Amino acid sequence: MKIKFAGAAGGNVTGSRHLITFNGKNILLDCGMFQGRRDEEYETNTHFLFDPKTVDAVILSHAHIDHSGDLPVLVKQGFNGPIYSTHATRDLCNYMLMDSAFIQEREYEFLKKRDADKKTGKEKKELRPPIYGTEDAQKTIGQFQSIDYERTFSPVPGMVVSFYDAGHILGSALVHMIFYDKKTKKYLKICFTGDLGRRGLPLLRDPQPIPETEILISECTYGNRLHAALQTVEQDLAVIVNDVCKKGGKLIIPSFALERAQEVVYYLNILNKKHLIPEIPIYVDSPLSVNVTEVFRSHPECFDKDTYEKFIEKGDDPFGFERLTYTGSAQESKDLNNKKGPMIIISASGMCEHGRILHHLRNNIDNRKNTVLIIGYQAENTLGRKLVNGEKRVNIFGEPKDVKADVFVMDAFSAHADRSDLLEYIGRIEGLEKIFLVHGEEKQENSFSESLHQNGYANIAIPKLGEEVEIPFE
Ligand SMILES: [Zn+2]
Repeated sequence: MKIKFAGAAGGNVTGSRHLITFNGKNILLDCGMFQGRRDEEYETNTHFLFDPKTVDAVILSHAHIDHSGDLPVLVKQGFNGPIYSTHATRDLCNYMLMDSAFIQEREYEFLKKRDADKKTGKEKKELRPPIYGTEDAQKTIGQFQSIDYERTFSPVPGMVVSFYDAGHILGSALVHMIFYDKKTKKYLKICFTGDLGRRGLPLLRDPQPIPETEILISECTYGNRLHAALQTVEQDLAVIVNDVCKKGGKLIIPSFALERAQEVVYYLNILNKKHLIPEIPIYVDSPLSVNVTEVFRSHPECFDKDTYEKFIEKGDDPFGFERLTYTGSAQESKDLNNKKGPMIIISASGMCEHGRILHHLRNNIDNRKNTVLIIGYQAENTLGRKLVNGEKRVNIFGEPKDVKADVFVMDAFSAHADRSDLLEYIGRIEGLEKIFLVHGEEKQENSFSESLHQNGYANIAIPKLGEEVEIPFE
């Protein structure tokens, strides 16, 4: 058996892809989209470190685009096998992948039109067409096979897999795999964390314990960080909303359409119920968020006890309240430009790289009255990361903009386990012999490896991107 770390490895956080070769079959764990510098992005998302035609099955940990977003390219390049996921992940991907294709198509049209309008006469850089379109996304969705949590399935002979709730986003799973080697008559148990969630996240259940595991492929996005406690989220959010109301400006919240947007709405709903924020309009400006929220509503089996008690049992909707508007059409989105604050606009993409959030930032970032609230992880070289770093001048759609709006960062929202969560979770796994650290920037990987050593784990590896490791049955 071999594992090839073909993405989100060696210091990379996005583009999760790990290829397991067993008995001559290839099983791919995740097929995420890489996000970063535009050229690198294009290259990494169109060239795999393996041949897509030789992949027999894909097992998908969760619906986040950095784990699922490159599946249509895989399909476009010849993969025609099954994609296994939980039911909620399949339903979410249905919208996520179509949206990803739509966004690429729209952005291409927008830039093409803008460049045509400019008529500068200068030699223009050639625009790249989308890496996949809606047809590819549709075909990909047709290859999904969804499975309940804790049910076993066998993607290839000699391999048995089950999903356990990772508590990270709706439908997220830890992938537990058992391999049987006919020659040595031995079993090998490997688990891939995908992204591990935190205990106490709103809406979701806590990460579920997994059975005995010898080899763990673990994320470590926040391997050297400790998050602010979730208990402060309500209070901090109230302070920021009240501050924007005083300034009379707009509070712009770039947010992943999936999970984070629903969580923000959930918290605003609670603040609203407790009368801790003034009565201002709140817009969720993302057609994807609207669809994703519908998927949330149709999968209450994934909710935690708290959500049941606070909302479901009372017949309340955790995702809707009076002053909240979900905007669908592009015109409704544009109309928000002409509306005066105070107001809250929640829009995607979460790392400020694509989608409607770019238009809102372009229109509002150079006004002191406004506030940008960053609530999610921002990968290196993304616009979101530049804002977090406090850059005073940024490029939006290739044009420079002064950053005059306040920029606040709240990391308490993180849906990722931090160092202590990871250590605690790993500490409960029985039979663990080796850990591969992936999905973390170099600093996080090294620091977390150190923490694991201090906790008595001797066999830890940080594979390089593209590295292939032989796994013996012993
Ligand atoms: Zn994730």
